[in-house]
Amino acid sequence: MNRRKFIKNASLTGVGLSVSSSALSCANSTESKPEQDETKTAMIIDKTKFPKAICTWGFVSANAKAGEELAKGTKALDAAIAGVAVEEENIKNTTVGKGGAPDREGNVTLDACVMDSNGDCGAVLYVENITNVAALAKKVMEDTPHVILAGNGAEEFAYSQGFKKEKLLTEASEKAWEKWKESPEYKPIINIENHDTIGMLCIDKDGDIAGACTTSGLSYKMKGRVGDSPIIGSGLFIDNEVGGAVATGMGEEVLKTVGSFLIVELMRNGMSPQKACEEAIGRIVSKNDRYKDFQIAYIAMNKAGDIGSYCIHKGFTYMKYENATNENVKVDFFNKA
Ligand code: ASP
Repeated sequence: MNRRKFIKNASLTGVGLSVSSSALSCANSTESKPEQDETKTAMIIDKTKFPKAICTWGFVSANAKAGEELAKGTKALDAAIAGVAVEEENIKNTTVGKGGAPDREGNVTLDACVMDSNGDCGAVLYVENITNVAALAKKVMEDTPHVILAGNGAEEFAYSQGFKKEKLLTEASEKAWEKWKESPEYKPIINIENHDTIGMLCIDKDGDIAGACTTSGLSYKMKGRVGDSPIIGSGLFIDNEVGGAVATGMGEEVLKTVGSFLIVELMRNGMSPQKACEEAIGRIVSKNDRYKDFQIAYIAMNKAGDIGSYCIHKGFTYMKYENATNENVKVDFFNKA
């Protein structure tokens, strides 16, 4: 049976519909019509606005790489994986991939997930000695009967797929960790000045959406800790009929509200990406005042290519590639106090 290519009526709130002479309707008449539903209308897609790539924080080169791949015709998921790999391999980045900050015991453990336009997904948790964990998550998705592999199992699977063993703890990260141990106070506060997890969403030339999310997690976390980033629905969620969302920041709080899935569901119900991100942050900050101690940020893109983003505290930005231009966008925030 054909999948429904409808979203709820845009008039509920203002989903931005983009129409041009070359506009293509998502509710294409060549497919058999789903049963009538008066509350739903077709979203109009203007493919001339594609491709697009967005990613969390100011990861200029990573987003540019994704944009370059998309412009060449690379499919959304491969473009996103190529983009985030730039940061996984950047040893100066202490929050993603090789060079990432270790846990309290000095182990660098990486988490990543990917999701494609078919709704397929893969994830790896708590992986040591492998740099390109987003690519590894794709291998899990494609070459195993599972969605998630963790720890040693993920690492062994990586070697069987030709990934090379690398020491992820760099001299600089080790030095910083040694310094931290001098007064090992664990303050799991996301430093909003620092670059954190990279989450990326891509729409390719065909209008298909996919995403990747990869991180070394919180610096000096407890051994064994895994955050939101590799958890489908929390760190990343894609529905090719609706759009996608990714998160960065205090993973424990994103997990409690299944943030990225929530945003996609809100968009499905007619919210713009911007309003959906605001609502997802609202679910967190409305519970209690603890939000003052942590940062969380979301970025989202719907099927029409409209983008939204919102965060708790000042300081979050995202990268946007569109019309062959890569720019850094400042994001509005909740805590204006
Ligand atoms: N979300 C990540 C985690 O909790 C951290 C981050 O984005 O910096 O592991």
